[in-house]
Amino acid sequence: MTAADIPILLVALGGNALIRKGQPGTVEEQFKNLRPPLRQIARLSRNWRILITHGNGPQVGNLLLQQECCDAVPKLPLEILVAQTQGQIGYMIESSLDSELMKLGKRFQKPLVSLLTYVVVDADDPAFARPTKPIGPVLSARQAGNLPYPTRKTAKGWRRVVASPEPLTVIEKHEIRRLIEMDFIVICCGGGGIPVIRSGRAFDGVDAVIDKDLASARLSAEAGVDTFLIATDVAGAYLDYGGRNQRLLRTTTVSEALAYTRRGHFPPGSMGPKVEAAAAFLKAGGRQALITSINAIEEAVAGRAGTRIVPDPAV
Ligand code: ADP
Ligand code: MG
Repeated sequence: MTAADIPILLVALGGNALIRKGQPGTVEEQFKNLRPPLRQIARLSRNWRILITHGNGPQVGNLLLQQECCDAVPKLPLEILVAQTQGQIGYMIESSLDSELMKLGKRFQKPLVSLLTYVVVDADDPAFARPTKPIGPVLSARQAGNLPYPTRKTAKGWRRVVASPEPLTVIEKHEIRRLIEMDFIVICCGGGGIPVIRSGRAFDGVDAVIDKDLASARLSAEAGVDTFLIATDVAGAYLDYGGRNQRLLRTTTVSEALAYTRRGHFPPGSMGPKVEAAAAFLKAGGRQALITSINAIEEAVAGRAGTRIVPDPAV
């Protein structure tokens, strides 16, 4: 079997999975939260070529807050803060995964690398006028009402929101493909990628945070991924989430999943983009998309947990 025969699995780790609900988000907590998913990913790397992407909602919001608490140094734009989170989270994932691979034994060692990743967005994307992406800590309704920036009530409570334009393409896709061919585990597209717009032959960073699920779907299509897995802090996509009739959706097709979104089951900014991302990947030729808990990554790959979305049957 050559490397090219080994299927490619992309695991998108939620920023909210690194800082759990109710946690302040110390670095110790984040390292501890990373262990269970990375132990599973290390084991999966024996049978899959692996790409890892990650969110940064809580982390980028915290950086923004941190700099707003200090006037002694110049403020950095959001695009730079996204780049910072690629570095900090990339480092935490890389070092944790390295330890987990080490525990499996020398035979299973793999080269790994985290890659700063730019993602192109459209300067005229209507999202710039309508912030939807929740970042930073959960706020009380009173706090949220007294802030100089937009906030919105999410499933987790009130949060700051920023513009979240649609990802068009991943600039480093060729490099990422080459690294996979060389059997590297690649950590990339952190926080949805550093958002840039084309400006002639160059790129300019913009003030936004791209949804990491949508960026991961784009990358999955561009890098020839077989299974696109979204690991988050719930067991999968539920119907009537939070209601009395809440039930986990186990297997569904693209059309069925999108119909549930239209009926309001999967809200914007959280489960909505995950389902939309899965659909985009499958429409671009992907085979299966999985939405599962960070504790059930292996189980979902084995078909025993989470929500599995497959292409519509051919007519
Ligand atoms: P991540 O950081 O993993 O991207 P998000 O907060 O963006 O996490 O999305 C996961 C959250 O989506 C869950 O914690 C849950 O509160 C929320 N959610 C909203 N609707 C649903 C649904 N229908 N099924 C499951 N989770 C849902
Ligand atoms: Mg999210």
